[in-house]
Amino acid sequence: MSAFLQAHFVASAATLGDIPAESGPELAFAGRSNVGKSSAINALAGRKRLAFVSRTPGRTRTINFFDLGHGCRLADLPGYGYASAPRVLRAGWDSLVGGYLARRSCLCGVVVLMDARRPLTGADRQFLEWLSPVPAPRLILLSKSDKLSRAEGLAALAATRRRLVEAGIGAEVMQFSSKDRHGVAEARELLEDWLRNPKRLPGFRRRQ
Ligand code: GDP
Repeated sequence: MSAFLQAHFVASAATLGDIPAESGPELAFAGRSNVGKSSAINALAGRKRLAFVSRTPGRTRTINFFDLGHGCRLADLPGYGYASAPRVLRAGWDSLVGGYLARRSCLCGVVVLMDARRPLTGADRQFLEWLSPVPAPRLILLSKSDKLSRAEGLAALAATRRRLVEAGIGAEVMQFSSKDRHGVAEARELLEDWLRNPKRLPGFRRRQ
């Protein structure tokens, strides 16, 4: 059975100290607030409300962990890009998410949701920069692709791939819609392969 279809909530971490011990390959999901990250996790898991646990008060700024069976997990990172958020909140996000990404050696993939209508915003690029020390492969899902025509969707895909190459950033890119389920099966297939066969990007040596 698909790992995603057996997902269930395990724990929320508000501080680095709350993060559960590693149990096996882990996928992290990230994206700007409102980009459709919770809907994407729900679509992959074939459930309506799984990831909306992160909406319950007190959990919007936590990392939420879901069990995918056989020790595999999914980590739902708090949304980024609150340019107007108070500095203390942004500092909390930086230390929690930065600390998690820097130390989590079981990470086998990072999924970054970007709006298909405006991918690679300043905040998206900043997050990709943050990811540079992480040796796990990246998947960019161009979310809400149902809002684009077929031609516009293909153009967004090609433009995003080109801009990533220009920026020297390696990532898989797919169109994705939680609404019409475009890309759900393909994303699930790739991510389950990463869970089963964790790979490191070439040329990485984890800092001691
Ligand atoms: P999050 O803050 O990134 O977790 O975003 P949500 O999953 O809560 O989605 C934010 C808004 O975008 C909600 O109103 C969703 O209904 C809408 N949304 C999410 N995914 C899609 C999608 O694939 N297509 C469309 N049209 N709307 C979506």
